[in-house]
Amino acid sequence: MAIIAVDMDEVVADALDEHLSRYNALYNAGVTKDHLTGRHLRDVIPYEHRQETEQIVHSEDFFADLKVMSGAQEVLKALSQEYEIFITTAAMEVPKSFTAKYEWLGKHFPFISPMNYVFCGSKHIIAADYLIDDNVRHFKLFKGKGILFDAPHNRQVTGYTRVKDWQDVARLFASIPVCR
Ligand SMILES: [Mg+2]
Repeated sequence: MAIIAVDMDEVVADALDEHLSRYNALYNAGVTKDHLTGRHLRDVIPYEHRQETEQIVHSEDFFADLKVMSGAQEVLKALSQEYEIFITTAAMEVPKSFTAKYEWLGKHFPFISPMNYVFCGSKHIIAADYLIDDNVRHFKLFKGKGILFDAPHNRQVTGYTRVKDWQDVARLFASIPVCR
């Protein structure tokens, strides 16, 4: 079976939505995803908010209640019939996230074995055929095919196969002959 590696944040888990709501509650602000085209949250907020805003994702409960990206469960479940699915998340960037991420995956993606979770730093070590990710930096040294999952921050990036949502992922893989 060919292997699909799937990122977590902004691909199966809506971390940005949670980050925005916590930021907006903290500073009584109204930042939305529409403000973030081509930019990260840290780029649009006052400089003095930056440190506390970065800390939001380092709180232990941040990753516990993230919304699942629409369609991710159905499409990954269908793809898991034809492909081996691994969840590959650069969790080393937020060490306190490990337990919450592990539990979140088990709750929302029970058909993916925990043996297929990869909590990593650099993703170029991942030997998969495909990597679905919102950060193109992970594609630079990746030997398989990178598939860019649309997110506000990457909307102006060109040069990669882009999928705008999980229905688009389903369409893309429906067009690829399956290697068994
Ligand atoms: Mg991501």
